[in-house]
Amino acid sequence: MRKKLVAGNWKMNFTPDKAREFVQDIKETINSDEVDVVLCVPYVSLQAVMEALKGTHICVGAQNMHYRDEGAYTGEISPKMLGSMCVPYVIIGHSERRERFGESDTTVNLKALKALEHGITPIICCGESQRQRKENRTADVLKKQITFALDEITPEQAAKIVIAYEPIWAIGTGEVATLEQAEEACEIVRNQVFEKCGPVAAEKIRILYGGSVDHTNAKDIFAMPNIDGGLVGGASVKPTFEKVVHYA
Ligand code: PGA
Repeated sequence: MRKKLVAGNWKMNFTPDKAREFVQDIKETINSDEVDVVLCVPYVSLQAVMEALKGTHICVGAQNMHYRDEGAYTGEISPKMLGSMCVPYVIIGHSERRERFGESDTTVNLKALKALEHGITPIICCGESQRQRKENRTADVLKKQITFALDEITPEQAAKIVIAYEPIWAIGTGEVATLEQAEEACEIVRNQVFEKCGPVAAEKIRILYGGSVDHTNAKDIFAMPNIDGGLVGGASVKPTFEKVVHYA
């Protein structure tokens, strides 16, 4: 039985002060040992949020990182830095980074391998565009993204990572995938993990759905057999995030 996971993706929201305040307000209600809850916050708020979460089961995550440990990469944050802060999770390959910041299948894989090297659990994002779905290419796109992302990752490592299926057309649009679409895509992802890393990894890996998840739809989405929780954007910076967590 896979433990459900709800990850909030705060994106570029909240100053550190506001982040601390928000976490103080909701932490009691989202603290649970039955569901894993992760708050993926901007780098500058990691410390403040980690302090505010002390004594709870809730974890922090970063929203990106570089794939090198150090060097002349102005403006980047390295896995070594996140590791030294004991940040347990990092989102990798979000479609906003793929589309606007040059993230590729190759860098997603390099980052996933590096995160694992530093003991950080990658939350690897995949998902098709509106056009790819219309052209019936969803399965091909997902298979390719997962095959690249898991390259050189061992079955033992794969069992512990997290994949988030996020159809690009559903992100921040309010247009949530139907339960059938979400389940079908997550099943394709799981089958691809099976192909690449074998049955144990496929059974254990947690696959999240992301894209306009909120407290009105989370219950049904999280009940699907191949969906192990959600990657939640807009609804994770609202007090109603508590309800989303409770449906997991
Ligand atoms: P959304 O974002 O919940 O606002 O659609 C999800 C995400 O981008 O991870």
